[in-house]
Amino acid sequence: MTTIEKTNKHIMQSYGRLPFALESGSNSTANATVIDFGSGIGTNSLGYCDSDWAEAVCQQVRTLQHCSNYYYNKPAADFADKLCTITGYTNMFMGNSGAEANECAIKLARKYSYDKYGKNRHKIVTLVNSFHGRTLATLSATGQANMHDFFFPFVEGFIHVEANNTVDLAEKLSDDVCAVMIEYVQGEGGVVPLEQGFVDLIYMLCAEKDILVIADEVQTGVGRTGKFLAGEHYGKSADITTMAKGLFGGLPAGVCLANEKCSGVLTAGTHGSTFGGNPVVMAGGLVVLDKVAQPAFADEVTAKGEYIRERLGCCSEVVSIDGLGLMLGINLKTKKAADVLQSSLEKGLLVLTAKEKVRLLPPLNITYEEIDRGLQILEEILT
Ligand SMILES: *Cc1c(COP(=O)(O)O)cnc(C)c1O
Repeated sequence: MTTIEKTNKHIMQSYGRLPFALESGSNSTANATVIDFGSGIGTNSLGYCDSDWAEAVCQQVRTLQHCSNYYYNKPAADFADKLCTITGYTNMFMGNSGAEANECAIKLARKYSYDKYGKNRHKIVTLVNSFHGRTLATLSATGQANMHDFFFPFVEGFIHVEANNTVDLAEKLSDDVCAVMIEYVQGEGGVVPLEQGFVDLIYMLCAEKDILVIADEVQTGVGRTGKFLAGEHYGKSADITTMAKGLFGGLPAGVCLANEKCSGVLTAGTHGSTFGGNPVVMAGGLVVLDKVAQPAFADEVTAKGEYIRERLGCCSEVVSIDGLGLMLGINLKTKKAADVLQSSLEKGLLVLTAKEKVRLLPPLNITYEEIDRGLQILEEILT
């Protein structure tokens, strides 16, 4: 049986996979010839098998692969120290995915409010079209009606506000709300950046009412938008920020960062994860931080994003391009995003879609040569 046959036989069919198996990769190129503008949904932030990253991971796997959170480990300590220094946060919880990072943020926000105000102030406002993960709580948080089928009962206490609708927001911030959770640029929801005025109002109203702001930067974080955190574009720092996807260069982990005010809420026994802070994953993450947190690196991301926009802006099929940095959503005139994705694969280019848009999340260190090769294919399809 081939990889595809075995997968279809023995891995649950919860994904609509494309008929393409990856075997190896280097820089932003898979299987020696296929240009990757999707980077494993934004996870391979340094492309495939970056040599410094691979070296650090391999060395750690030969030294100490795991020890659990009953004990201390240096890679996790070093990673946490470095990420707090870069972001200004006080501390973090370490889990294994974006959903788990958000699950932690939800628990933290509810306990913060419970500790201070008691019961019945547990509601969390999220945005329509948001995406926060696939666990029951994060699915309940996700503001997409088509994801709220089958799995009843969902977790109670989530209210959805229309993105960029200030009236809806003001109406729904009632006295039983403990947190507002946002993506600065909605990713799965269709690469939709929030407006500055809307973000300003969230922070203003939340500050007045001691409501926590949770920024889900699982997709937008770690340099994706041309800043280390997308909140920097808006001049904002949330009480709680979650990160995952690109943070460990393609290894699975997620973190929930807390500011001073929220740093002492999760006390011993209130939350946990067997694999959280795994040394091998953390060793990879340290290399990602070393590279991505350099100001010159962020500027490169911005420049590459602008270059792609300029080139694609000339295609007759392109109506407009949304997003920030190397997180781009292309609005098409007549073609369907799913068809563009299919044609791209046939010509040797991997892209993503988000709602009706073609979505690009290339590795942050993609070379201009690889960008040009990918763009040539896209331009052929979109002209
Ligand atoms: C991908 C994503 C998640 C979920 O991350 P997983 O690692 O798949 O659990 C949560 N929030 C946002 C904004 C995401 O893009």
